[in-house]
Amino acid sequence: KQEAQEIDLPDPVKALPSNTIDETQNGSLVDKVSMFIGDITKLKIDAIVNAANYYLKRGGGVDGAIHRVAGQYLQQECDTLNGCPTGEAKITGGYQLPAKFVIHTVGPQGENSQLLKNCYKNSLNLALSNDVKSIAFPCISTGVYGYPNEAAAHVATFTVRKFLEKHGDQFDRVIFCTFLDIDKELYKKVLQTYFPLN
Ligand code: ADP
Repeated sequence: KQEAQEIDLPDPVKALPSNTIDETQNGSLVDKVSMFIGDITKLKIDAIVNAANYYLKRGGGVDGAIHRVAGQYLQQECDTLNGCPTGEAKITGGYQLPAKFVIHTVGPQGENSQLLKNCYKNSLNLALSNDVKSIAFPCISTGVYGYPNEAAAHVATFTVRKFLEKHGDQFDRVIFCTFLDIDKELYKKVLQTYFPLN
């Protein structure tokens, strides 16, 4: 089965079709997601996701923050991985971070929902295979890579919702880490859409 057809992203500007989410799962899934506002490097959880670049070389933004706190051995491990294609994900240790692992994923440059979706899915799959039960995502691609914030927030939360409908039992928590006010406001809205409390 084609990965691309597995999830059909709803159009965020139109009303959601009634069958977009499996409502029977709301009760068990809403407790597994949350929003954290602030610096992802502060989180003492199993894994934080890095919005990395193809070469897995220390850059700016969240990547720079993660490398700064993790220390030089993170770059040394990244250098053994032969880079990471857009949409894919690779895992390393967390070194001096409070998080045990860093999952490095490379977002698209510009708006490409399939590739952004792949980032979330491949990161979650890698989490599954490494027994990661708590994971935090930054707003991948919405910084230097220029993905429009609102569209990205929809892709992020919808993709996580669909993934958790299948594998929710294997996660304790998925955290959306927002750093900018605009994302904080957007995630309040999209979380209510895809993980409705009522
Ligand atoms: P990309 O190259 O994928 O666009 P950026 O790092 O430029 O990645 O931006 C991704 C998001 O990460 C932006 O919303 C940015 O504000 C945010 N960000 C920057 N520093 C941190 C941090 N320490 N913790 C969490 N998010 C951060």
